[in-house]
Amino acid sequence: MDLDTLTSTPENLPVFSLMNSSEKTAWLKSEAYKILDVLHINDFQSLDFLHKEIQKLDSDEMVLKGMLSGDLYSCAMCSKQYTKAAWLKKHLEKKHDFEFSKPDSARKESNPVQCFLFMSLLLRDTCDSYRMGDGERIVRNAYFEWLYARSLNHTKYSLWLWRLIAYVDAVLSPSESAEYKWNMTVNLKGGVQNNIPNDCCVELQVKNIKRQLNTQGSNKSFKSAQKICMTTQVVEDIMDKLQKSVKSFKPKGSRPEVDKSKDIDQIVQHLRKHGPVKSIKWDSFSKFKNPIAKISAPSLFEWINYNQKIASLYM
Ligand SMILES: [Zn+2]
Repeated sequence: MDLDTLTSTPENLPVFSLMNSSEKTAWLKSEAYKILDVLHINDFQSLDFLHKEIQKLDSDEMVLKGMLSGDLYSCAMCSKQYTKAAWLKKHLEKKHDFEFSKPDSARKESNPVQCFLFMSLLLRDTCDSYRMGDGERIVRNAYFEWLYARSLNHTKYSLWLWRLIAYVDAVLSPSESAEYKWNMTVNLKGGVQNNIPNDCCVELQVKNIKRQLNTQGSNKSFKSAQKICMTTQVVEDIMDKLQKSVKSFKPKGSRPEVDKSKDIDQIVQHLRKHGPVKSIKWDSFSKFKNPIAKISAPSLFEWINYNQKIASLYM
């Protein structure tokens, strides 16, 4: 929109007062898509590549699974039996000239700026979706987060995110899945955009329970802890109401917002000098690779299969 400063008015805008809300939404969406296009953020080449590789591996697996009877794999051509799929695969390749997919290594170079922009948008959108309690968006973003966690070797996060997706998409019944999806956050104080993730709520409750337990000194017991756990939310609410009614001072949990306009101005000036974001290349990031492009399709496929087996037993 070629704004000179952050506070200047954009030019060539449509007349909003003549538009209804759905027209306004459509306009806003089209502008957002333009920005995504210019910055190449909606360029999912590495994701499409990974998807295709996994599909190939999946069809290979289907061929082998078709020859599984009981615990043994028996060759459909000569009935030779194997205990491991990998041995049958080797046999099929050698004796019967079967052709299985070969991992494709051709990959496009990745731009660190686009990657950074995508990841920061993902983070912002995820924080916002939790604040709004938007389960649909939380799960949609979880797919990307799972892939990033996987590529950066965050074992615990990738497992947790995979299980979240598995519960929503496969394990739970449609009604249970909707219930799970739309109850991932909790709103303790009321109001829009005040939701917090359930696990943060648990942390807060634990803090309250510990604080109340500490007031009991040597009288602490299992029973008293049990009583506190049952009543902590009510007690906190009563305390909150009392504090409000007597207008006593309560330290605020939120921090003042940082003014980033100066930094943004500086970034914009820099970009105007050096051309559009999509073509910037920094020497210090010459070896940068998009984390998703780093994922090896066979190892991801193996990981998914292994976790599917665990899920079928325990989830
Ligand atoms: Zn054979």
